[in-house]
Amino acid sequence: MISEKIKKDDPAKHGMLANVMRQFEHASDSIELNPNIRKILAITNNELVVHFPVKMDSGEVEVFTGYRVQHNNALGPYKGGLRYHPTVDLDAAKALAMWMTWKTALAGLPYGGAKGGIQIDPKNYSTAELERITRRFTYALGDNIGPELDIPAPDINTNSQTMAWILDTYMSTKAPNERSKNLHVVTGKPLGAGGSEGRDRATGFGVFLCVKFWAEKQKIDLKDKTFIVQGFGNVGFWASRYLEREGARLVAVQDVTGTYFNDQGISVEELNDYQKSVGSLEGFKNADLVPKDKFFGIDCDICIPAALGNQITANNAADIKARVIAEGANGPTDVEAEEILLQRGIMIIPDILCNSGGVIGSYFEWLQNRNGEIWTMEEVMEKLEKKLKTSFDKVMSVSEKRQVDARTAAFIIAIERLEQAYIQRGIFP
Ligand code: NAD
Repeated sequence: MISEKIKKDDPAKHGMLANVMRQFEHASDSIELNPNIRKILAITNNELVVHFPVKMDSGEVEVFTGYRVQHNNALGPYKGGLRYHPTVDLDAAKALAMWMTWKTALAGLPYGGAKGGIQIDPKNYSTAELERITRRFTYALGDNIGPELDIPAPDINTNSQTMAWILDTYMSTKAPNERSKNLHVVTGKPLGAGGSEGRDRATGFGVFLCVKFWAEKQKIDLKDKTFIVQGFGNVGFWASRYLEREGARLVAVQDVTGTYFNDQGISVEELNDYQKSVGSLEGFKNADLVPKDKFFGIDCDICIPAALGNQITANNAADIKARVIAEGANGPTDVEAEEILLQRGIMIIPDILCNSGGVIGSYFEWLQNRNGEIWTMEEVMEKLEKKLKTSFDKVMSVSEKRQVDARTAAFIIAIERLEQAYIQRGIFP
């Protein structure tokens, strides 16, 4: 079992995998999950590692390593993002694939969980090189992905352009009369290449909605509340933009280049325009540059981690001033930090709920492609809000009934849905 393996290994190296397994075990214990189903859910079904050569602009050939882990498909095709980052390895992909299974099950989608990517820092490559790396990776994955088998989407350092290259490469390997049937092999595509209205903002909008639902429940007005955001990429930007529209004030933002603080407020549009022109937040003038490790201790009402995993740990959990942590990233809070935060009465809206707007938006795109439909932005946003509200209410209700924290409640809902599928269908043969 994964859990036994990671206990022996270096916890820092396998932080995210240890984290997701501990979350799973805790929730499974609390519902006394059938031990046979526990065994099945504790392992990843398939783990693919591919090595592939790509010609660089210089004419030299570089060999890359790509990963795709498929955790579980009891409820439908595998679904999950592709990440281009130096921290991508087999264990990171396993952890992230597992979170995807719980996330899709919680959202009530007909999907399983997968994740993958390439261990690179994309900053080191030209756009033409990234295109060739992506196309060659897609070719190496071959029929291990597919519109009814495993459907990738964007994640850290990948975007709609990456998805368009994957789609084009995948379709090119099919017979001409089969090509258009494969439009839903990836989601998060640009609008002109079969993408859906609203998918670009779906994750950040979902993070915002979760904060809004929480505030409504607590009878808190978001107007004039302050928030901090770690990561100003797709998720961080859209979450900030919607919170600002609601009257909340961004007082600090951190990206890979530094931490930018202004207690008078940072304009989200201005920050976004700056990022678009410079490529990062480096040198942003209307805020003070403060030390990186001070970020989570900044005074605010709402904290949104929207970058990497294992950012909130026992080292900084006691410093956090926010009343609510809305997990835009996957796995940003480790188990030790969570214990500290819960003891301090800080609400954590767990990743598998809080950032599930992304996979719900992806599901809408997949459905439209599959059925030859095109929905309007209003339709997409309305359906997204309805689905997320259902998930949010379910999590709150299980949390209250069982007297467990929101993450455990979310895991229980997801695991029970999978348990039911296995019990009703049995184990082949
Ligand atoms: P992105 O590549 O668009 O943005 C990532 C941001 O994080 C950038 O601003 C980058 O500078 C920052 N960052 C990277 N390393 C950092 C570090 N060490 N310290 C501080 N900031 C750092 O990625 P994204 O798509 O916005 O994804 C962010 C998180 O949200 C990831 O954990 C991802 O798995 C999760 N997520 C994304 C989606 C989606 O639809 N894109 C859906 C669900 C969950």
